[in-house]
Amino acid sequence: MKVVTTIADMQEARQRLTAPVGLVPTMGYLHEGHLSLVSQARAENPSLVVTIFVNPTQFGPREDFKAYPRDTEHDLALLEKEKTDIVFIPPAKEMYPPGFDSWVEIAGVTERLEGACRPGHFRGVTTVCAKLFNIIQPDIAYFGQKDAQQAIVIKKMVADLNMNLKVVTLPTVREPDGLAMSSRNTYLNPEERKAALVLYQALTLAQKLWAAGDTDADKIRREMLALIKREPRAKIDYVSLADPETLEELGRVKTPALASLAVKIGTTRLIDNVVLE
Ligand code: AMP
Repeated sequence: MKVVTTIADMQEARQRLTAPVGLVPTMGYLHEGHLSLVSQARAENPSLVVTIFVNPTQFGPREDFKAYPRDTEHDLALLEKEKTDIVFIPPAKEMYPPGFDSWVEIAGVTERLEGACRPGHFRGVTTVCAKLFNIIQPDIAYFGQKDAQQAIVIKKMVADLNMNLKVVTLPTVREPDGLAMSSRNTYLNPEERKAALVLYQALTLAQKLWAAGDTDADKIRREMLALIKREPRAKIDYVSLADPETLEELGRVKTPALASLAVKIGTTRLIDNVVLE
């Protein structure tokens, strides 16, 4: 496994890779969710590149960029075990040198849900992904359904800007009790960890109501909200039942539909989703 930190070294190493090249972009502090993407990418491609970059431009000024958990040594050991060919870990000033002034901005799907709560977030995500795609030139990039809107936005960018790669979305990996794995779960104290289950419980409730024949989206959203409000540590950012392509809120639940939510547990903001289909 080769670890590279500069764009020049990454581009040089890329030239010696056998196509197709699979790419898994991450912010590190790797868990089983990340590793499911890595192992699938490993199985499907003769060459595998993983990136670790806590991207400052996708964090708002009052968000957790500085506190975001980091453990490069442990990440590298895990990636070595997965037989990764190249790990690209650039410092922030390599990706954003002085004078950097270009942004990739996707309209429409970025304006709802996470985009509405986190202004500028998706501009940071699409800019860094466009840069990583240009530098690494992957044939297939792998993203997690955990960040459903992010995967939708990246697919839109790739289609709209004619980028020459395929984007694959893989299922959310959960803890045994249902909590979606996330690097941010590490912020939760034991009481908050228990309270955090309310996200999955609300999504499971949506699934149950819909499976029982309920198609009134407002009613399902109301029941999800009521369930979450019973948890005193939870503060709701949004609860949504939306079209999985446009992310427009639904009146009647048709299939497939994306049930998603963002909830703060104490000071930790968590997101999760399920597809009703
Ligand atoms: P992050 O390091 O949080 O930026 O995540 C890197 C990639 O891993 C993204 O495509 C995420 O959607 C994906 N990912 C994060 N958590 C999970 C999970 N629990 N299950 C599946 N994929 C995940």
